[in-house]
Amino acid sequence: MTKWMIRCTRCGTEMEFNVAFDLSKLNGHLFIYCNKCKANTEHDILGVFDPFTERFIDKNELANLKFKSIEMD
Ligand SMILES: [Zn+2]
Repeated sequence: MTKWMIRCTRCGTEMEFNVAFDLSKLNGHLFIYCNKCKANTEHDILGVFDPFTERFIDKNELANLKFKSIEMD
């Protein structure tokens, strides 16, 4: 499981979202249920907690990391 931070674009509520797949492949947005809106809403993907160090990596840094890993390949 990876811990992501997401934010509802309708009400602005930020929440943790634990999933086993890479949300960074979703173009920065996903539709899921918001407890505050009581509806499925669009959420911005804000970043991810490094599973080894628990350090928060924001989406800009994540993009750079991906770019570097592509360069190394
Ligand atoms: Zn909401």
